[in-house]
Amino acid sequence: MDKKEIISKLKASTSTHVKVAVADIDGVLRGKFMHRDKFISSLDNEFGFCSVVFGWDVNDQVYDNVEITGWHTGYGDFPARIDGNTFRKIPWQEDVPFFLADFESSHATDQNVCPRALLKNIIAQSEQAGYKPIFAQEFEWFNFIKGDINASQNSFKEMTPITSGMFGYSILRMSDNYGFFRDLLAMLEQFGIPLEGLHTETGPGVMEAAIQCSNALEAADRATLFKSAVKEIGKKHSIVASFMAKQTKELPGCSGHVHQSLWDLKKEKNLFYDADDQLGMSELMKQFLAGQLYCLRDILPLFAPTVNSYKRLTEGAWAPTTLTWGIDNRTTALRVIDGGPKATRIEHRVVGSDVNPYLAIAACLASGLYGIKHKLSLDNPYTVGNGYKDLQHGVLPRNLYEATNRMAQSEIASELFGEKFVDHFCKSRLWEWRQFSEQVTDWETKRYFEII
Ligand code: ADP
Repeated sequence: MDKKEIISKLKASTSTHVKVAVADIDGVLRGKFMHRDKFISSLDNEFGFCSVVFGWDVNDQVYDNVEITGWHTGYGDFPARIDGNTFRKIPWQEDVPFFLADFESSHATDQNVCPRALLKNIIAQSEQAGYKPIFAQEFEWFNFIKGDINASQNSFKEMTPITSGMFGYSILRMSDNYGFFRDLLAMLEQFGIPLEGLHTETGPGVMEAAIQCSNALEAADRATLFKSAVKEIGKKHSIVASFMAKQTKELPGCSGHVHQSLWDLKKEKNLFYDADDQLGMSELMKQFLAGQLYCLRDILPLFAPTVNSYKRLTEGAWAPTTLTWGIDNRTTALRVIDGGPKATRIEHRVVGSDVNPYLAIAACLASGLYGIKHKLSLDNPYTVGNGYKDLQHGVLPRNLYEATNRMAQSEIASELFGEKFVDHFCKSRLWEWRQFSEQVTDWETKRYFEII
């Protein structure tokens, strides 16, 4: 949308203010209401956004180990730029106008750590090479009855799920919470996040949604906004939604699978499909897949960014543990889906619902492009049967510390995302690990107290 169109849309709105948001390193949306006049004047220029947005964690605790911002810089502003193409109206908030911004700037030195700007850079590389990335993310998440949660007391354990029992794909459970389902379908559609599917998943209160595929930047915008939108719409129904990767030891965790294909620039042809190949896979798709396998262990924290993410990646819990691919195989890290000329795609199953979608999608695309650039061949034969037992190509790093140390030292990671980003991101993950490691948990007390 050009400036004139944006102004006319804003004039047509009854709202005097516009909501503007940026995604931080964890994928959390940070933003503010801006007066319409200030917003319009910011359209041509940048506007200042406090750099602390990249200087603190999900609890607003400031990092003590990053360079781009901190007490040593005085937490000055970074220049943010509004993306006019992201215009939406928030249907559950009186249609208040909404825009996303990022820190892509001609003169910003700090743009490399902005997840949305990073993704834009990688999409530009893809398009320069002649490939339009078409992506989609799907999410599983838990829903609880709000009245039971007293977050200030951290009494998360007593929460009641909105449905009881397991019942994946239960038509009955969907009727039980029909109002919530109806609002999710209708309001997300109006908000520009069309759902291809929505159903209950296995586990009490668990739901799954697949977002319709689109160009990769739009896919990441939709995925990021989806998580916030579900929380906000849920609140209207006294429902609390959580996208933690693993809620409880007893149940499978929550995935955030990424579906991917490359098309020609006019978006007329899915370049992953080859009718003459036995598996329906083009050479380009094979190289892309080989790149993803080759890079996976070096960039895992982008797909599994929290301490909790690694508790999801366990055997027999519908999340992969091995460096594998397969044809329509849900036990492998990468699942090839033979969907014919339009829908042939790769599903990246390592990705959890707790990811920052900009980073997960950037990591998928960059590692796939690496395979194309280096013309990697798909040496890994595909796994037939149980991928958890296919150890011939190795296993994924088992925790955030191991994975982050590998990424921090990886030349591939620096080649794909630049040293500055890798340094900042890895330091933010090591900070996260440190916060966890310093805690004395209930489990430790119960195990080591030695009561008589
Ligand atoms: P699953 O096989 O995991 O159950 P779903 O059918 O739930 O997958 O989801 C399919 C997802 O794949 C949807 O988000 C859909 O938009 C996406 N998709 C379909 N075709 C393509 C394609 N060519 N490229 C990328 N994503 C695609």
